[in-house]
Amino acid sequence: MYRRIHLRRVTRGLRFRLTASYALFFTVILIGVAGLFRESLKSKLDARVEEELNGDWAAAKGGYLRIDWSAEVGKGAASWYYDAEDPDETTIVLEIKKVYLIADQFGNVIPNAKTKENEVSTTYDDLGADPPPEIAKRVIAMVNARPNTPGKTFWTIRRNAQGEPFKIRAGIAYDEHHVAPYYVAIGASLADNEKILRRFTWTYIGVIPGAVILGSFLGWIMAGRALTPVLAVAQTAQRISGSNLSLRIPTRQAGDELDYLVLTFNRMIERLEASFQQMKQFSADVSHELRTPITAIRGQLEVALFTAKTTDQYREAMFNALQDVDRLSQIVRALLLLSQAESGQLVLQKSRLNLCEVVEDLVEQFQILAEEAGVTLTADLPPECAAEVDRVQIERMITNLLSNAIKFTAKGGEVRVALNPLPDRIEIVVEDTGRGIATEHLPHIFDRFYRVPGSGAAPSPEQGLGLGLSFVAWIVKAHDAKIEVDSTPGKGTRFTIKLPSGGVGSDTMEIAAQPATLV
Ligand code: ADP
Repeated sequence: MYRRIHLRRVTRGLRFRLTASYALFFTVILIGVAGLFRESLKSKLDARVEEELNGDWAAAKGGYLRIDWSAEVGKGAASWYYDAEDPDETTIVLEIKKVYLIADQFGNVIPNAKTKENEVSTTYDDLGADPPPEIAKRVIAMVNARPNTPGKTFWTIRRNAQGEPFKIRAGIAYDEHHVAPYYVAIGASLADNEKILRRFTWTYIGVIPGAVILGSFLGWIMAGRALTPVLAVAQTAQRISGSNLSLRIPTRQAGDELDYLVLTFNRMIERLEASFQQMKQFSADVSHELRTPITAIRGQLEVALFTAKTTDQYREAMFNALQDVDRLSQIVRALLLLSQAESGQLVLQKSRLNLCEVVEDLVEQFQILAEEAGVTLTADLPPECAAEVDRVQIERMITNLLSNAIKFTAKGGEVRVALNPLPDRIEIVVEDTGRGIATEHLPHIFDRFYRVPGSGAAPSPEQGLGLGLSFVAWIVKAHDAKIEVDSTPGKGTRFTIKLPSGGVGSDTMEIAAQPATLV
């Protein structure tokens, strides 16, 4: 069972499939090359035999063979002229006479002028006689063919009873007086050629499996090498858990696709690590934030239970406890809203409205608070500023910014709200002449529960939850806007929101479940 599963895993693996396709490809190429090679060898060997036959034919026609009317025989007869003492001439003529046939224009084999024997070799005879009408037809075709054209010769391949192949070259020869055409066929065995081709084929058939096995083995090793980093990625991925998200896969510095994969994977873990860290930090912050009012409530209740004597003391302890309960429920409500917003459950309800009116109303509401704090609150608004926004969220955003500005500006300071409609965007500016934010804290002010250290003693209802700017960040992101903070400690702070004019597409919009980040 285990073996079967293991085998299936191997055969489904990328390494196996790469090797298998490589082996298949290699085999097809090898067979193709062998076929091409064999064809080219065959045509070379054939051409050599044709060349030899052409040479023999030229020698016979050029002088060794003469055909003439023989009064003795009573018809056309052949004579062979050569010096029997000359080994070269003898060899050539004997070579020609190995496979040959001479017939008249009607297809009848003619005799030798001297011996009277038929001019056909036994080897040619073994191939089976050509029927005279067939020969006669060929003669007519060759006589009528234009000079120096392939039609002047007739090529064929014949096999004897044993299956031995012969290449036959036939042509026309005229008698001495050019009276009648004669059919002269000479041939050569192709047995050697076939033997060479057969040996070639068998050698190749023997070599191909070995080459394929060797090629596949090399392919297997190469595929294994190429895939090692992939395995490393998989193994590292398996070792990664919440507690060791700091693991990274080392790149091979090869600059190839696998390095790109490793890099992408490492970046993904980096992002995971960051959001995991954020989650951890968030739950630590939440429990810390909740613990503070709970401890305070407990303290107040203990006071009421053990030390309070008078009704006023009871009332005071209860009042304090109630205040802490308020703060507790405020935190819980804010957290719930924020998590709803960030998980996409809070959907924007956009409508086209005049931002000037919205800002004007809010400034009016904050005038009392500003007066109490001794801060001058002014608004710098154009007559009209239409935008496609979610009224509730935009009000929440400006409220948060305004209350912070007033809260962190000392008596005698100024807070200004401005709206600047530009061609491509609307800028909402909330600036103050307050205490400002030091550069090192700027990147964190939008984090949940982040309060600039030293901004107050223990948390109190006035001090805020450190959640206001997190909301602002989410609202900005949900409106596809951008926020910029410009702050000089001791001089003041300016928040600029750049809202794309005309709003963003649809009436409702889902927000991805991820912490709003600043841009
Ligand atoms: P909180 O509810 O405590 O105001 P926020 O998220 O709104 O929390 O702000 C985070 C922190 O950023 C504040 O605690 C404060 O230290 C700083 N901050 C925000 N706005 C201003 C401002 N206008 N001037 C100075 N500091 C500010």
